[in-house]
Amino acid sequence: MSQEEKFKKVISHAKEYGFVFQSSEIYDGLSAVYDYGQNGLELKNNIKSYWWKAMVQLNENIVGLDSSILMHPKVWKASGHVDAFNDPLIDNKDSKKRYRADVLIEDYIAKIESKVQKEILKAKKRFGDKFDKDEFLSTNNRVVQYQDKIKSIHLSFSNALEKDDLLALKKIIDDLEIACPISGSKNWTEIKQFNLMFGTKLGASSDSSMDLYLRPETAQGIFVNFLNVQKTSRLKIPFGIAQIGKAFRNEIVARQFIFRMREFEQMEMQFFIKPGTQKEWYEKWKEKRMKWHLSLGIEKENYRFHDHEKLAHYADAACDIEFNFPFGFKELEGIHSRTDFDLANHEKFSSKKLRYYDTQNNESYIPYVLETSIGVDRMFLAVFSNSLCEEKLEDNSSRIVLKLPPILAPIKVAVLPLIKKDGLPKVARELLDKLKLKYPVSYDEKDAIGRRYRRQDALGTPLCITIDHQSKDDNTFTLRDRDSMTQVRLNEKELIKEIESKLLVKF
Ligand code: ATP
Repeated sequence: MSQEEKFKKVISHAKEYGFVFQSSEIYDGLSAVYDYGQNGLELKNNIKSYWWKAMVQLNENIVGLDSSILMHPKVWKASGHVDAFNDPLIDNKDSKKRYRADVLIEDYIAKIESKVQKEILKAKKRFGDKFDKDEFLSTNNRVVQYQDKIKSIHLSFSNALEKDDLLALKKIIDDLEIACPISGSKNWTEIKQFNLMFGTKLGASSDSSMDLYLRPETAQGIFVNFLNVQKTSRLKIPFGIAQIGKAFRNEIVARQFIFRMREFEQMEMQFFIKPGTQKEWYEKWKEKRMKWHLSLGIEKENYRFHDHEKLAHYADAACDIEFNFPFGFKELEGIHSRTDFDLANHEKFSSKKLRYYDTQNNESYIPYVLETSIGVDRMFLAVFSNSLCEEKLEDNSSRIVLKLPPILAPIKVAVLPLIKKDGLPKVARELLDKLKLKYPVSYDEKDAIGRRYRRQDALGTPLCITIDHQSKDDNTFTLRDRDSMTQVRLNEKELIKEIESKLLVKF
């Protein structure tokens, strides 16, 4: 199955099983805005609490915050968003489609990278156990040429971004003969900068109203509350403030489902540290965050670090954790060493001191900040797309199964009476009533048992409990595992033990 076909399946499965709907669908939708259905909402909430647990609950020196979406307009002047939160926009004159110039170049590089990967796979097959990847990369002529090309594009690309040189960026697109993915045309406009913030107004009358922005990131709510939280919690540096909340960006291109939305949710944590210690904390948080991702059991090969081509106006080091989405490796999470840029600027613009007083050394200073920032929706897409698969079964039939990490699955256990009579529904409901106090469970008595298993597979439910005639006699039940499809007969106590062990988390 091609990547494109796989991505289409992900989108249609998300809709068919109540995970993600297009916003205002009956009015033909609103571009790059989505709603989460009954199952999507649960998965999303589980992602958020898995993050919250790892960041806040398990760290004594990290606390939470819920700041508002609307903030004083000066916040965005101080943060640099009014002047510098731009993306380079380019239009194709023939297809009339709009693109981000940097993304066109990144996609071009990704195509060459995937050619290298294909050559590696071919060679691996050919040489078997004798295959030496490093030797192959440095000696195979075609692969060496590809790598040289990537290096030279990277060099001119990062130079152009570094200097905000839009002409140089356009020259790269022309020199590489990058074509519009839709029309194949190379007839491009010049590149312009486009500010991504959504404007709105505060107040009823037009003359007294105030121009505001919907926040493009949750981080600034943390910075302006830094001293409020520090003083009321009496936390000492190093400490962190975590927040989950909506952010809004008027994205130029929005054609990748929930990967790039105009209204989305972020999980951000700002870690306040002593100036000079940022390198050490940057490495620590890179490691911690990668560990968090891997704790979900998704294969390691799907993640990689990517250092930024161009450092944002606030950063002295930055990288992304990229994930292998159905359309290739793309940013899932950003880890940024933000220096004292934000706090120092808020001090300047508000004329209020934002300093930490170190009682031990009797000194006060503006802390440096280490940020980890991940999109809830991108995490949703990463987990969801990675979990969806079609499996061939022994009897030559196939099944669609959503192999979600159990801790994130919307429903943990489905309770299914084998048939709708002989008192089996009653026994099933008694068990359900006990289980639902502890776990999100569902009950289903419609259709043949095989069809019901398939339905739960497609929803990602890790365990099904079937109640049959024997259950009535000896209080034992059949527990079916989603992934292995094995079935075991257990009593109630053993059932609970199995469920608990499925939901065990190893951060
Ligand atoms: P990109 O380069 O893909 O536009 P970014 O570097 O602008 O992303 P950040 O500003 O670092 O993104 O935001 C932190 C995180 O927020 C990202 O890693 C991503 O998971 C999420 N995010 C950013 N923009 C969007 C969006 N438009 N839709 C969904 N999630 C987003």
